[in-house]
Amino acid sequence: MKRRNFLRNFGGTAFGLSILQTALAKGMTENLDLLDDPYQVLGNSGAVGNIVVVGGGMAGTTMAKFLRLWGGTGVKVTLVEPNATYYSNIFSNMVLTGERTLSQLAYNYSTLQSKYGVIVKNYAVTYIDPTAKSVTLSSGEKLMYSRLVLAPGIDFEQLPITGTKTNIDKVVHAWKAGVQTTSLKNQIQSMTRKDTFIITIPPKPYRCPPGPYERACVVADYLKRTKGGGKVIILDANSGLQAEPENFTKAFTQTHKGIITYVPNAVISSISADTGTIITASAGTFKGKVLNVIPTHKAGNLITQSGIGLNNAGGGKWAGVNVLTYESTVIPFVHVIGDSSSTTQPKAGHIANAEAKVCAAAIIQLLKGEPINPTPVTNSSCFTPITKTTASWLSVVFKYDATTGTMVPTGSGVTESAGATSENYEDMLKWFNNLMSDTFK
Ligand SMILES: Cc1cc2nc3c(=O)[nH]c(=O)nc-3n(C[C@H](O)[C@H](O)[C@H](O)COP(=O)(O)OP(=O)(O)OC[C@H]3O[C@@H](n4cnc5c(N)ncnc54)[C@H](O)[C@@H]3O)c2cc1C
Repeated sequence: MKRRNFLRNFGGTAFGLSILQTALAKGMTENLDLLDDPYQVLGNSGAVGNIVVVGGGMAGTTMAKFLRLWGGTGVKVTLVEPNATYYSNIFSNMVLTGERTLSQLAYNYSTLQSKYGVIVKNYAVTYIDPTAKSVTLSSGEKLMYSRLVLAPGIDFEQLPITGTKTNIDKVVHAWKAGVQTTSLKNQIQSMTRKDTFIITIPPKPYRCPPGPYERACVVADYLKRTKGGGKVIILDANSGLQAEPENFTKAFTQTHKGIITYVPNAVISSISADTGTIITASAGTFKGKVLNVIPTHKAGNLITQSGIGLNNAGGGKWAGVNVLTYESTVIPFVHVIGDSSSTTQPKAGHIANAEAKVCAAAIIQLLKGEPINPTPVTNSSCFTPITKTTASWLSVVFKYDATTGTMVPTGSGVTESAGATSENYEDMLKWFNNLMSDTFK
């Protein structure tokens, strides 16, 4: 038996451990060379399975990594993701103002492959057959699974927009980091102090509750610093602030006073891309040079098109799940994590990472035929740059409530920082590096 197979097959069992200890005692370490094992995973946890994970974002990548890390060599993990590079949405607002570049927010899957032995296929999943337990990729290849994990993030509803194609193409959401982020950055940078930037916020639930307010703040700060002024209008379809009410109220009325105007209950009726006009149902008509319209969200198309989102709590737009395992309430052996799932937790990257770990641990227990953790805990934190040097934050811990079968906030619920400080800004940089390393490294 090859040295690496020896370790991978036996290293995690009591039997394997005793052989390893004997070998070490006999001074055979040079022959066993632990570093020679390519994968830093448990030898054999007792779990055996073939898991396909769809979507290499915050949820899916964490899932693939921890399934291998905790599940060990008996768990084959294939990650299906069409793009070779993932651009982080988190911090992408700072690309708009030139404090980050998109390439600084680029992550890939090489560590997942080299360190954890995840098989990566750069294709999209186009079809799910839950009866045959298979998925079909855009390459035509079919993959069988014992359990399937879906983490395709979000997609958007159609906008009521008219205009020439050129002008319609300028109305971007930039709510998935990538080409639209660059387009919005260029439009913002071409603004003058006399121009108006309009950002619209869709009805909840949407990805990253504080994100649009954060964007309004950093754009206002940028306009003030580099153009000597400007206007930022926030058209919020919701009845009030969806996150950090104290910090954002202060940011809008004090820090960015005279620049930001916040308009609640602003449900969009129509948009004219040619005239830069947004008409709302009851909050009035607004005109701007740059229209950053974030459409109403729904789960990734794969969920809505495969029927996994149908007939459950998310009103057909989101996937209902059992939050002990994240298994779909509609289709067995299919789990849904991250923004696509319908839970009481926010749609955010930090919690997507936490959900993935709960789901990975549950799947490993199910593969072993052992009981799952009946009391999972998750947490979410969001840091928000308010200016180029200051940030605020929110934090919440959820625990499972057996009576309602949901994750409920612990303690006093969502906590927000006491204002925006430079110390928070430093903490934000550390938090981001830790979260991204925990996900991709
Ligand atoms: C401006 C902004 C700021 C944010 N700031 C924060 C923050 O401070 N803190 C925080 O916690 N969160 C933040 N978020 C939210 C966070 O980015 C998302 O909630 C998180 O990325 C969700 O993870 P996910 O894995 O569900 O989706 P994603 O990360 O979007 O990943 C989905 C992946 O699935 C792939 N995919 C889709 N369809 C298929 C298919 N058919 N086959 C295969 N693959 C497919 C996609 O290519 C993509 O890579 C922010 C978001 C934005 C837009």
